[in-house]
Amino acid sequence: MSADLYAAVNCDGPDCFNAIHYPDARTATDVRRRSRQDGWHRRPGGRDLCPSCWKEGKR
Ligand SMILES: [Zn+2]
Repeated sequence: MSADLYAAVNCDGPDCFNAIHYPDARTATDVRRRSRQDGWHRRPGGRDLCPSCWKEGKR
């Protein structure tokens, strides 16, 4: 059994379980850089927000 996991970023919005990953992204930093182009945002303190939460103002 492999212990390898996708590098993924999870949304930290309230009651939100969205997550994003890219099959060829090796690190969370890599995922974040690319997810930003897909509408994800990183907040101070290390919280990540998906596009829906960002639009709904749950910043
Ligand atoms: Zn969200």
